[in-house]
Amino acid sequence: MKVALFPGSFDPFHNGHLEIVERASRLFDKIVVAAMRNPQKAGPLFSLEERQKLIEMSVAHIPNVEIVSLSTLVVTLANELGASVIIRGLRAVSDFENELQMAQMNRELSGIDTVFIPTSAEFSFLASRLLREVAAYGGDVTSMVPGPIAVAFASKVG
Ligand code: ADP
Repeated sequence: MKVALFPGSFDPFHNGHLEIVERASRLFDKIVVAAMRNPQKAGPLFSLEERQKLIEMSVAHIPNVEIVSLSTLVVTLANELGASVIIRGLRAVSDFENELQMAQMNRELSGIDTVFIPTSAEFSFLASRLLREVAAYGGDVTSMVPGPIAVAFASKVG
């Protein structure tokens, strides 16, 4: 069974993330989405537990997906789960530089390969950071996030 791990901050999970999970779920037997702490990103809006719950609600229609939330090394988690692949989404060339370095480090540490899935053009502008900023100033992001996230967003920043 081919298990793939899709790690990220997902603060919050948005339609671009969802599309990557949907497409990956057709390529692998099982996808584990892991909401993780990113040490480069301080002060998350949603706690890890909140993010896990919200992602669970957002992907309930996809049968071969499991959600976890952890603060550990991605490769440690991948090994624990028996995942042979790490999935990352790519929005633009600017994402690639950092992602390539991470993929090479993860392969050096564990031998696990990263598979990049390019975003659909309609989602390429979506970024959690931007959504948080827009929502904080009263902008409507309802069409850019799954339903449960829109509700949680409204109560968090509203
Ligand atoms: P991280 O802190 O790990 O970068 P993010 O939550 O920002 O976490 O992103 C998680 C993954 O989703 C990353 O691989 C990122 O490139 C990808 N991603 C983010 N936004 C999009 C998008 N609009 N379309 C496709 N993939 C995306």
